Amino acid sequence: MRSLGSNRVLITGGAGFLGSHLCEYFLTQKWEVICLDNFQTGSKANLAIFRDNPRFELVRHDVTKPYLCEVDLILNFACPASPRHYQSNPIKTLKTSLLGSLNMLGLAKRVGARLTHASTSEIYGDPQVHPQPESYWGNVNSVGPRSCYDEGKRAAETLCADYRRIHNVDARILRIFNTYGPRMAVDDGRVVSNFIIQALRNENLTIFGDGSQTRSFCYVDDLVDGILKLSDHDCFQGPVNLGNDAEFTVKELAEKVIDITGSKSRLVFMPLPQDDPKIRRPDLSLANDKLDYQPQTPLELGLKKTIAYFDKALSR
Ligand code: NAD
Ligand code: UDP
Ligand code: UDP
Repeated sequence: MRSLGSNRVLITGGAGFLGSHLCEYFLTQKWEVICLDNFQTGSKANLAIFRDNPRFELVRHDVTKPYLCEVDLILNFACPASPRHYQSNPIKTLKTSLLGSLNMLGLAKRVGARLTHASTSEIYGDPQVHPQPESYWGNVNSVGPRSCYDEGKRAAETLCADYRRIHNVDARILRIFNTYGPRMAVDDGRVVSNFIIQALRNENLTIFGDGSQTRSFCYVDDLVDGILKLSDHDCFQGPVNLGNDAEFTVKELAEKVIDITGSKSRLVFMPLPQDDPKIRRPDLSLANDKLDYQPQTPLELGLKKTIAYFDKALSR
């Protein structure tokens, strides 16, 4: 990432899975990092390796409240990402996306900072176009159990676009497709970490529905590469899809995890949650064209690295 002036970055949600990888990257580049988090799903353990770095500052704060500081770049990542967590307090989830993004855009406007906003494939809902290009407007239920997340993220994109138009804020939007890797919380609840933990414990792998629904899984290092490319670009602001475009059924994922871990676990089938998208795969042409983005890590390799992480985490 090239210099943006004083080289100070604010990372909201910095104690979470993705946020902690971003903190780590900017510290290795000798930037000053302000990590802001309310610890709803994040943890101090994710920050342990750089806690004592003098360039690192940890602030316990909720993004739904105004926050003042002076930075060149804001990575707007605060928001629980797992359905289990974002549905546990849906009104709070919506406030985090909406008020949190409003406050960060207000901050960006005040100090003239660039802002990169973490949006999501969920803005496409249960898609009727496959794979999903950025030009697709989506198929989203506004009153279902996933709506607090999906609609909050859609409204946050709208805020970014309007702060661009009205206030000339350099707000960039990336739409993240299912990303996994080390530092996901053991109780996160998303499918990759659930299956790995279940397999390592020789417990049944819980498949929701018949396992024929598809997802495209991106290893965290590839996503971080894309986030940096977008944040570093001279002028491109997105929205742009980032992820991995290899598509697997949930059942295939379960079988792969059992295979790699050599676990004795079996598959059990449970009811499919309401509004669970049936298919999902990013069209990465725009990311490839504008950012020269291409995911490098095949699922099997990413799973092996993530399994090694959880193996260690569970034995602590
Ligand atoms: P995560 O749950 O591990 O991290 C979210 C972080 O935000 C946590 O540290 C949490 O404590 C913090 N947070 C939540 N609400 C907050 C609030 N009101 N104030 C301050 N901090 C708050 O999830 P993640 O996977 O690291 O996701 C990070 C971001 O990326 C989220 O915005 C998420 O929507 C987005 N995203 C992630 C994925 C993915 O596959 N990992 C996919 C799409 C979008
Ligand atoms: N805000 C913030 N930090 C700042 C500047 C603004 O948290 O450094 C908040 C501010 O409190 C407001 C939001 O961002 O709630 C939007 O600010 P803006 O100035 O765009 O709008 P206004 O305050 O005029 O509604
Ligand atoms: N899923 C599953 N078992 C689990 C957790 C999730 O079968 O223990 C399914 C879920 O129903 C969805 C897919 O895996 O179809 C991906 O779920 P996840 O929560 O990881 O993310 P989503 O893409 O739905 O936000």
